[in-house]
Amino acid sequence: MTAARPEVLIVGAGVSGLTTAVRLAEAGMRVRVRALRRPEQSTSAAAGAIWDPIYAHHPLVLSWSARSYQVFRDLAGAGRPEVRLVPGMEASRKRIPSPGWAHDLPGFRECAAAELPGGFASGWRYTAPIIDMPPYLAYLERRLGAAGGVVELGRVRSLDEDLGPVVVNCTGIGARELVPDPEVEPIRGQLVAVRNPGVREFFAEHTEELEEMTYLLPQGDVLLLGGSADKGQDDPEPDLEVAAGIVRRCAGIVPAIATAEVLGHRTGVRPQRPEIRLEHERLGGRDVVHNYGHSGAGVSLSWGCADRVLELLRDLT
Ligand SMILES: Cc1cc2nc3c(=O)[nH]c(=O)nc-3n(C[C@H](O)[C@H](O)[C@H](O)COP(=O)(O)OP(=O)(O)OC[C@H]3O[C@@H](n4cnc5c(N)ncnc54)[C@H](O)[C@@H]3O)c2cc1C
Repeated sequence: MTAARPEVLIVGAGVSGLTTAVRLAEAGMRVRVRALRRPEQSTSAAAGAIWDPIYAHHPLVLSWSARSYQVFRDLAGAGRPEVRLVPGMEASRKRIPSPGWAHDLPGFRECAAAELPGGFASGWRYTAPIIDMPPYLAYLERRLGAAGGVVELGRVRSLDEDLGPVVVNCTGIGARELVPDPEVEPIRGQLVAVRNPGVREFFAEHTEELEEMTYLLPQGDVLLLGGSADKGQDDPEPDLEVAAGIVRRCAGIVPAIATAEVLGHRTGVRPQRPEIRLEHERLGGRDVVHNYGHSGAGVSLSWGCADRVLELLRDLT
């Protein structure tokens, strides 16, 4: 990139695109974001969203998630209401050791068997960032605006279009068609929002891969309940039977949930890929950096991945 203030088009306005846009714009680049839909209509807006490095694959996942943890902790410390640091428990139905990445987290300790809910065999406690995604995405968009960037609506049909000299591809599940990349596959997820009956700590079921699991994420007066993982599905309509199953499982952890008022349903399509694609490519005479395939951990990885995009673009100069 030779221009004094390099111009970058970011495709996608979910958490990957907006976080990358903020990072690049605040580093002095001229940034435009183009997206098919508004941020509040993205999969990112549907996420719970608890920091957790498990549900995406790449050798650098732990370093990227650690970087995001640091940024979320700083945002919470600075009083951003969309980011909370919440103590809680992660637990497995199997007898397994706690994962190494949890050991350095604030408040980490192993749980005694008597602390675990029925049906769970091992557990550990720590403090994790939980992000209220719809207002958080709005905050990122405002922060982008303050750094001179804009979000415009529009579909990019091909990366061969005249998109300017530098493009960052943050299209999530859209990468399947746009790249095209058949390795990106949909995993539909669903959450239920209820009026919080007084839950102040998170509970997250630990599984090896994305599958049906039980989790409770307090966001002030709202409690988000999860979750589902339907491989190969991308139907945006909430499935009320799935929702009833989620409420039932969560009521097994906190009985008051059985009668809590349901405030709404959220669905989204996780962009599953065997490995996150975060790399530079020369395509049709322009520089393209791909940043997609974050599966069930795109929020948790967002700042680490944005930093990596910035490094790759700086290497081009
Ligand atoms: C129910 C649920 C719960 C989740 N919980 C968590 C959690 O607790 N923690 C966590 O870290 N992650 C969680 N996730 C995963 C997380 O939501 C995703 O990894 C993340 O949202 C992916 O973000 P993204 O920006 O890459 O994609 P998206 O949010 O899907 O954004 C893609 C963007 O690209 C645009 N786009 C696509 N194609 C085109 C095109 N051709 N032209 C122009 N624009 C295009 C779209 O309009 C959109 O703006 C959850 C997901 C779901 C569904």
